[in-house]
Amino acid sequence: MPDTFIQYYKDKGIESLYPPQNECIEKGLLKGADLLVAIPTASGKTLIAEMAMHAAIARGGRSLYIVPLKALATEKAHEFAGKGATIGVATGDYDQKEKRLGANDIVIATSEKVDSLLRNGAPWLSQVTCLVVDEVHLIDDENRGPTLEMVITKLRHASPDMQVIGLSATIGNPKELAGWLGAELITSDWRPVDLREGICYRNTIYFDDEDKEIPAPAKTEDINLLLDCVAEGGQCLVFVSSRRNAEGYAKRAAAALKCDHAVLDSIAEKLEAAAETDMGRVLAACVRNGAAFHHAGMNRMQRTLVEEGFRTGFIKSISSTPTLAAGLNLPARRVIIRDYLRYSGGEGMRPIPVREYRQMAGRAGRPHLDPYGEAILIAKAEYAVNDLHEEYVEAPDEDVTSRCGEKGVLTAHILSLIATGYAHSHDELMTFLEKTLYAYQHTGKKALTRTLDDALVFLTEAEMITDLSGMLDATEYGDLTSRLYIDPHSAEIITTALREEGELTDLALLQLLCMTPDMFTLYVKKNDLGTLEKFFYEHEEEFRTEFSYDEMEDFFRSLKTAMLLSDWTDEIGDETICTRFGVGPGDIFNAVQGIGWLLHASGRLARLVGPEHRDAIEETTLRVRHGIRRELIPLVRVKGIGRVRARRLFTNGITGPELLAAADPSVVGKIVGGRTAESIIRAAKAVRRGTGRRDIASERMTARA
Ligand code: ADP
Repeated sequence: MPDTFIQYYKDKGIESLYPPQNECIEKGLLKGADLLVAIPTASGKTLIAEMAMHAAIARGGRSLYIVPLKALATEKAHEFAGKGATIGVATGDYDQKEKRLGANDIVIATSEKVDSLLRNGAPWLSQVTCLVVDEVHLIDDENRGPTLEMVITKLRHASPDMQVIGLSATIGNPKELAGWLGAELITSDWRPVDLREGICYRNTIYFDDEDKEIPAPAKTEDINLLLDCVAEGGQCLVFVSSRRNAEGYAKRAAAALKCDHAVLDSIAEKLEAAAETDMGRVLAACVRNGAAFHHAGMNRMQRTLVEEGFRTGFIKSISSTPTLAAGLNLPARRVIIRDYLRYSGGEGMRPIPVREYRQMAGRAGRPHLDPYGEAILIAKAEYAVNDLHEEYVEAPDEDVTSRCGEKGVLTAHILSLIATGYAHSHDELMTFLEKTLYAYQHTGKKALTRTLDDALVFLTEAEMITDLSGMLDATEYGDLTSRLYIDPHSAEIITTALREEGELTDLALLQLLCMTPDMFTLYVKKNDLGTLEKFFYEHEEEFRTEFSYDEMEDFFRSLKTAMLLSDWTDEIGDETICTRFGVGPGDIFNAVQGIGWLLHASGRLARLVGPEHRDAIEETTLRVRHGIRRELIPLVRVKGIGRVRARRLFTNGITGPELLAAADPSVVGKIVGGRTAESIIRAAKAVRRGTGRRDIASERMTARA
């Protein structure tokens, strides 16, 4: 290992390796061996990955590190920095080539990003000699799993000598997964600190070996568990189901803890000084009393201050959403898993998988500091004590199963294999697909052949591919669809509508895009139906989608989501939207992001099949991006003007760039503040000159992941 790397860890006080890390080295980690490392949370997987990557770089190679979430890419980049290797993060839109990226020793990206880079032909990918897949068990994820599986398969197909390191939480079928990867398997139940798991009901913790009653000064046990742990000199991580709950818990914890310390005051002051929103001010107030929350809606500075305050022991509790469990490397004496149900993409509340429970529980116990760690689930009823014990504490790890067999899933990937030249014939596609986990888990070629044939029929009929006596090739349309990174079924829905004559209204376009398989749509409740039907009949003439009885639910979901987006573009406030549709602010954000990508794709497809719709699509794109009515479109074309400023200017009579460019700065200053006034007037003048029109294409919203 390079000296800088070794020194970095020595300075951090890490002098020797954990047993699973040693085992990896013995099995060839530094010599290019393929490994599947399926070991518990907190047992040091990151260091394993780093050792493999630095060893590969020392041999003159490059490394690619696949992360499960976009937000984790930057986190990892910070974690990897300062150890002698150059780090690049692949972010941004899925259809952009990123040339300079490949100059880095280590590139960090999500699987969707890598897939898109492969489709767009990024040349440096073929120089990757070490591939690390973090959380490789996510192959099992019903939405994102197939892409991860295909990306691993493609990369290995292109570079058979590449070292592959799969990192995973403990899983039920590690041998099978290792078999597929052709990798040596490292499993272990070793962990740096002992873990005690228990269920709390009415202020009693039921452990395996004892029942422990805790003092109950507060009304709720989630706070009593915290106070009990703090009284014994520990700290707590508390996992709850949503950002709002994380903030709510921190407020209650702050009121109960009432810590008073100069260090807390100083962290709180820093947070206060930088606070731009209510959330920032609430965080500061909580931290002053020793409690904090942690979620993806916070900025880096806020998160770092909270993490530091917790590491140094002054902040006593952090409440967080479970999705953050993966990235939150902050061990605590006690982990409280308060909400084991989670709101899942419009499907209502669902129990979290055992794997996620283990990930959270595994954060319990600080090495060398705590005698043991405790993971405690809170039961909401007495019978749940036993149930939770069985369903989580005692439950076997879940198997990792390929999701590629699900209907339609492989079509997009098969198109991209043809479009990018990975495969030119039925046989070549088969040879490729036989290398997937799906094929590994389904012996016998029948299922695979059928899936492939179905996909080829669809792609040929859609004119995305041509078949010239067995030689498969992508058409311009097929190639574009593959590069746009949308499902071929989505592309078909969009282009069919674009080819029709007549006006395509904003609402019709939104509803149409909400019918595509790429769009996340809202769950329809029984009592939504009345409103939805009424809305449907009011706008029946506009809609372009036809649906069969079987697709009724999909249609209503698309309608509800389009209605939400339509409210959003009518400048209806977030709170009203949340109440009207029974959703959270995160759902609005997701809908806006998701549709943003599809609108971008529609704009590109329109160039090919319906150029007369391009302007309308561009306008809808702007309206959705900013959440504005049509009348504000001219104003948001000026750099520095968004939803709020545009509305203020408009209300004050400045209705477009022309008027803004000619306006008196002091008048504009009264509306938007002096500094902003100067810069937006300058920008408006540029628009008038025709040089400053916002480049929509370069500002596209990114979707998914
Ligand atoms: P995982 O990815 O397995 O959940 P991490 O890689 O995040 O675990 O490691 C958990 C913690 O253990 C990190 O703070 C890391 O710095 C620390 N750690 C890793 N290896 C060692 C080691 N050999 N000695 C001491 N601490 C270590």
